[in-house]
Amino acid sequence: MKITLSKILYYIEEYLFPSGCALCGRALLDIEETWYGLCRNCRTEIGIEEGERCEVCGRPLISEIGVCLPCRNGGAHSYDRIVCIFPYTGRFQKLLIAYKYGRSRALGNFFLEILKKALELLPLQELKSPVLVPVPPRPGKIKRSGWDQVEFLAKLLDGEYRKAEKKALYGAENTPPGAFPVRRCLKRLPTKSQKELNREMRKTNLAGKIRSKNAPKEAVLFDDVLTTGSTLDACAEALKKAGAEKVYGICLFYN
Ligand SMILES: [Zn+2]
Ligand SMILES: [Zn+2]
Repeated sequence: MKITLSKILYYIEEYLFPSGCALCGRALLDIEETWYGLCRNCRTEIGIEEGERCEVCGRPLISEIGVCLPCRNGGAHSYDRIVCIFPYTGRFQKLLIAYKYGRSRALGNFFLEILKKALELLPLQELKSPVLVPVPPRPGKIKRSGWDQVEFLAKLLDGEYRKAEKKALYGAENTPPGAFPVRRCLKRLPTKSQKELNREMRKTNLAGKIRSKNAPKEAVLFDDVLTTGSTLDACAEALKKAGAEKVYGICLFYN
């Protein structure tokens, strides 16, 4: 692992104010561990599950073929395809809670690596110049919590793209994995929190409440948790209304 100034700062911070491994609590011992907020054991145990995934929502398939059961019953979507990575249960859930509520920026570094790998599960080679679009938070949410966990990842993804651009590696045939420009082109109008609503209510709650300006032709939406997919759907609809032709999505967790 290349040592950079920010990695050293993470190490010093962990040394002064130890928080330990986000999963097992063991002390973090070196620069690599403090950078990712996880001990080496826990980090190697958490990877992207291999195997068949649903062609629509990207959840791993259990005994279904092609499309998962919820998607078969769920009707049409505005997005073309999504991929989601970890089930929102057990230690995976613990990971998101530590990131989201514990505000572990180190876990953001870990999620960045995961996102970069997971982007390869989408057929991005079919696209000319995909642009990453973060799902916007509800207005007021950030004011209350003071931290936007999706925006933090947007910043990291943006940083990756800038680094790649600097190295002049970026080109149509030579895009390094996970390095795509980020565009914050969605806006969410005030709505109720999706959390308290059922599937049908989630859909109507967001109807017309997401707006897009300056939408890219090809977008990859990203968000932290996929539940019914209605938020991604509403975002994809807004992007397509504003001129996007293809909209993919990527979510770190699925319910
Ligand atoms: Zn651990
Ligand atoms: Zn599915």
